[in-house]
Amino acid sequence: MLKIEGLTAEIDGKEILKGIDLEVPQGEVHAIMGPNGSGKSTLSYVLAGREGYEITGGTASFNGHDLLAMEPEERAATGLFLAFQYPVELPGVGNANFLRTALNAQRRSKGEPELDAMQFLKTARARMKELSMPEDMLKRGVNVGFSGGEKKRNEVLQMALLQPRVAILDETDSGLDIDALKIVADGVNAMRGPDFSAVVITHYQRLLDYIVPDRVHVLMGGRIVQTGGPELAKQLEASGYGSVQAA
Ligand code: ADP
Ligand code: MG
Ligand code: MG
Repeated sequence: MLKIEGLTAEIDGKEILKGIDLEVPQGEVHAIMGPNGSGKSTLSYVLAGREGYEITGGTASFNGHDLLAMEPEERAATGLFLAFQYPVELPGVGNANFLRTALNAQRRSKGEPELDAMQFLKTARARMKELSMPEDMLKRGVNVGFSGGEKKRNEVLQMALLQPRVAILDETDSGLDIDALKIVADGVNAMRGPDFSAVVITHYQRLLDYIVPDRVHVLMGGRIVQTGGPELAKQLEASGYGSVQAA
């Protein structure tokens, strides 16, 4: 399980996370919603171990492993996967090589043999078939010239290859059409099971029509201020975040 207690973090001396408490049991999908600027992306970056954030207090662990003490690659090795709002473009880096490097880094850290190019292609093709993805996505540069939907597909493919135990997906939703939302939702739903948990971060309720979460948390001003079932997302869609503030 993913367990966060009293997590505080700042950027450039400005406190953004003001004491996050969150528990996501194995096998559950939780949503984090909240207005712009509430700290949603900061939380995902801090969990990923991105540079530039100072953790000033609290803890974050996954299955008892102290995430905050680990390098980003070590976090991935424990089974943590992070998908980001703005995927990087890497011109000149073939997508197949990029994905194989990510997969092999994970296999190395688990003491499993690395996959050569042929073995990787076989695995990737099988996953892509399951996800109804066109094979030419492997031949292109990483995210270069990808549409919003293709970037999402690639993210989902990366997740399907790495088979994480917990995935954190930070979705702006903005700029994503319904088809792209469905790609993400199908990818997450396909992974759902007793050994997989996810935190889906989203500004709008729309995505949660496709990924029905076990729990919904509202993040405001750097704190989780309310937690409920899937109905909470619908309520927020109808009445806005103002109703939470007033509560
Ligand atoms: P959300 O994802 O919920 O929209 P963010 O985590 O992106 O919110 O941002 C939370 C707050 O942190 C905002 O007030 C934002 O302006 C501030 N912030 C984010 N990144 C930086 C940064 N690099 N430097 C200074 N302030 C930042
Ligand atoms: Mg934002
Ligand atoms: Mg954000």
